[in-house]
Amino acid sequence: MQNENDHIYNLAIIGAGPAGIATAVEAYIEGIRDIILLEKDENHNSTIRKYYKDKKRVDKDWKGQKVELDGRIYFMDGTKESTLDFFDELLAKHSVKLQTHTEVTGIEKEDDYFVIHTSKGDIKAKYVVVTIGRMGKPNKPSYKIPPSIRKRVGYTLDGCSQNEKVLVVGGGDSAVEYAVDLAEKNDVSICYRRETFRRANPTNQKNIAAAIAHNEVRPILGVNIEGLEDENGRVKVLFKDREPEVYDRVIYAIGGTTPSGFLVSSGIEEKDGKPVHDEHYQTNIPGLYVAGDITQESGGSIALGLNQGYYIAKHIVEQEKSKKA
Ligand SMILES: Cc1cc2nc3c(=O)[nH]c(=O)nc-3n(C[C@H](O)[C@H](O)[C@H](O)COP(=O)(O)OP(=O)(O)OC[C@H]3O[C@@H](n4cnc5c(N)ncnc54)[C@H](O)[C@@H]3O)c2cc1C
Repeated sequence: MQNENDHIYNLAIIGAGPAGIATAVEAYIEGIRDIILLEKDENHNSTIRKYYKDKKRVDKDWKGQKVELDGRIYFMDGTKESTLDFFDELLAKHSVKLQTHTEVTGIEKEDDYFVIHTSKGDIKAKYVVVTIGRMGKPNKPSYKIPPSIRKRVGYTLDGCSQNEKVLVVGGGDSAVEYAVDLAEKNDVSICYRRETFRRANPTNQKNIAAAIAHNEVRPILGVNIEGLEDENGRVKVLFKDREPEVYDRVIYAIGGTTPSGFLVSSGIEEKDGKPVHDEHYQTNIPGLYVAGDITQESGGSIALGLNQGYYIAKHIVEQEKSKKA
């Protein structure tokens, strides 16, 4: 009898975010069977679960970029909750094997298959797609955060409550959404190193402009932060060329980083902080692909990840056909 160690999946996908689920579902629709989707967390879409606030509006055209959906997954504007339901349904309808609590630490190429090293042992597959995103390691400030105030400094809305003086740091969509949301129950300021919120999408630009106009959010624009200090258990923020201020909580919403360690240990070449890939999203290692935020294509979005999954699925099918011809 064949045991799991001998089994070779046709396709293994690492990371069950939007790009990973799309790759699995599109591959299934293309006729590929025996697909495994490996996820380190307890459920799919840990970025959406951890970083999106409850009832958050989810925009298909994130960051103001219009994306035409090329594949068979009909994704629309919605909320955090409807988006998670949407991915639940996609997985249920296409009988893709989702294996959670399985962290992948590296990938090795053997002659005609890959060995995927995971926290639950090795898994083999003919093709591998890496869709682990960039939010596993959120960007952190370069200055040191004193350990005594670490509980008051975060990267998500976890721990936030009400009637607090909060500083949100960043000027993209996530920062703007956090600031506007927190302002309902807190005294909120937003600090951004640039003078305008031009990187945010039009809806968020409108929302932050209204919140500032109604004195619900106080803007601290064109200002850099040089450090944080403990002020009797609260957070003293040291601004450049501006008087320091003390907050109950500081939230950084300044994006994520490329998981370089993972890419290097898997032999995937990187250039300018991005994994190198061809027009089919195939890396320097034939049969090993990357999709989603990890590619940093136009800053990343759900819809972009869905399209990449579609193109990868089509390419794998073509590769298989040419092998048989
Ligand atoms: C606050 C916020 C708001 C946003 N709002 C929107 C929006 O409205 N519309 C929109 O289009 N986009 C939005 N985005 C961006 C969107 O969430 C990302 O573009 C999208 O999630 C990227 O999908 P992905 O599949 O590449 O990666 P991710 O969604 O990050 O998924 C990666 C998955 O891989 C798993 N993983 C990581 N490492 C490993 C490992 N070693 N082994 C196994 N599994 C692993 C993670 O747990 C995770 O589940 C927002 C982002 C943030 C942070």
